[in-house]
Amino acid sequence: MEDFNRYISSIWERQWLSNNGPLVNELETKLQEYLRIKHLLFVSNGTIALQMAIKALDIHGEVITTAFSYVATTSSIAWEGCIPIFVDIDPETFNIDPAKIEAAITPKTKAILATHTFGNPCDIDAIQAIADQHKLKVIYDAAHCFGTTYKNKSVFAYGDISTASFHATKLFHTIEGGAVFTKDPYLLKTLACMRNFGHNGLETFDKRPGINGKNCEFHAAMGLCNLEHIEEILERRRTLSYHYYKRLKNFKVSFPKLNDNMDYNFAYFPVLFETEELLLQCMKRLEGSKIYCRRYFYPALSALPYVLKTKLPICEDVSKRMLCLPLYHTLKTSDLDLICRILWRVQNYQEPVVIKKRKVNIDLGNHQHIPINGHSFP
Ligand SMILES: *Cc1c(COP(=O)(O)O)cnc(C)c1O
Repeated sequence: MEDFNRYISSIWERQWLSNNGPLVNELETKLQEYLRIKHLLFVSNGTIALQMAIKALDIHGEVITTAFSYVATTSSIAWEGCIPIFVDIDPETFNIDPAKIEAAITPKTKAILATHTFGNPCDIDAIQAIADQHKLKVIYDAAHCFGTTYKNKSVFAYGDISTASFHATKLFHTIEGGAVFTKDPYLLKTLACMRNFGHNGLETFDKRPGINGKNCEFHAAMGLCNLEHIEEILERRRTLSYHYYKRLKNFKVSFPKLNDNMDYNFAYFPVLFETEELLLQCMKRLEGSKIYCRRYFYPALSALPYVLKTKLPICEDVSKRMLCLPLYHTLKTSDLDLICRILWRVQNYQEPVVIKKRKVNIDLGNHQHIPINGHSFP
């Protein structure tokens, strides 16, 4: 809070609150250095990043995508007047299955929008090969990917455009925020114009309409504070995740198969239960101890009211059995142990878990109003 307040005081001194101010510039530069990536644009959120990506690539028609993602992936496609076409996911990585993409391609297909689910990269090479062959654009919803590298480069470097979310629930955050990444200088210029109402000069405008996708000094300040601690945050999440693996060894769950070519950021701790029933029992027992998990991603996005009905047996099954356990860098090892003990009791005895009367002290730290691993809970 002290670091943040110092930044805030400097904003008031300068009286420069938004519109490409010094902190926004500093954050963009520092992120470029940290991610070892040439260009990025800091934007208002991860959803507008996706919408701008679709708009900048001038996509009209069908977009092949995954139904195992957050709603923003699909809603952005629909919001841009395109048609989301779902293909099923790989049963081990839970990312879009490239082997199933080709069968979904029609003359109206213009792009592939894939999510690197839980920060675990898709089969990028296979997707790019299909895109090249059929002249399709590739957008990656890399909302979960801060800190993940693929073949020694930031995963944000792949695709025609990649997008990130810096929402407060994400591993690196600016409270609200996001970014777009592209290597293409022409696209970058288009996106920069779009972010600022289409201005390409004080009184001149680009040939295409823009939107307000800017972010501001206050959010940049939060990002600069968090970036200082990013290595500790990543390290702690790795340690906690390995601790979960150890405690859940032989438990009736499985974990996503991680891509071999990457360094993982441990953005989430997703577990796939053997049955939905066991998941629901575990969730209920955890909630009894005021431990709140989120079902990422449930329901599958193929259940949305505004999409074509599509049968996706793997995605529908996985979305019923997947739960993200609490994972945040201030999570105490003792609380992680408690979570795992509760899970084991449910599995072993299938009987009520007796929680002692004393308050179970899950230290939420600064996260009191921020859900554990989720967008929001009451
Ligand atoms: C969080 C998230 C988004 C949306 O990002 P916001 O910054 O909240 O708009 C999009 N896609 C995925 C996969 C996400 O998890």
